[in-house]
Amino acid sequence: MIVDEIFRMFREYGSGAYLGEPVSMTEHMLQSAYAAEREGAPPRLVAAALLHDYGHFVHGLPEDSADHGVDTQHEEVAHAFLSEHFGPEIAEPIRMHVAAKRYLCAVEPSYLDELSPASILSLELQGGPYSAAEAAEFERSPFAEDAVRLRRWDDVGKVAGLETPGLEHYRPVLEAALKH
Ligand code: FE
Repeated sequence: MIVDEIFRMFREYGSGAYLGEPVSMTEHMLQSAYAAEREGAPPRLVAAALLHDYGHFVHGLPEDSADHGVDTQHEEVAHAFLSEHFGPEIAEPIRMHVAAKRYLCAVEPSYLDELSPASILSLELQGGPYSAAEAAEFERSPFAEDAVRLRRWDDVGKVAGLETPGLEHYRPVLEAALKH
């Protein structure tokens, strides 16, 4: 069962530090999902928030790649895997969650101030803020709005010691989101 496989990956790789942040990868992804849930987001987006950094579990590159100037392209890696099992309403916002950061930097000047130092470092590796033309292009995607919402839950999911529901709490949401 794919959800079991996904949870196994969380247990195997998720306890590592989310580099430069005061939470583990699993805590970060649970906090993002919890933020979506508390906001009353639709289940597809709660699922996307929970899985948005899944690419870090499977890209096989060192955790501190950004410190060495390497962009792991974790959003593409996640999309390649997740799109086999989940529809585009989940996989596409995940693929676009880095683009959404570049977009928000372009259209919301105050956004950059909210980013953590680690996120600012990776932003440079990911190509920096979008130009006006790139931002307009981003907005044309049918998944742009969802990607921006996902991005904001990503940004707040970095609180040391915040209590959240555990992985099993999200099993029904993931199972309902699977392609049939
Ligand atoms: Fe994240």
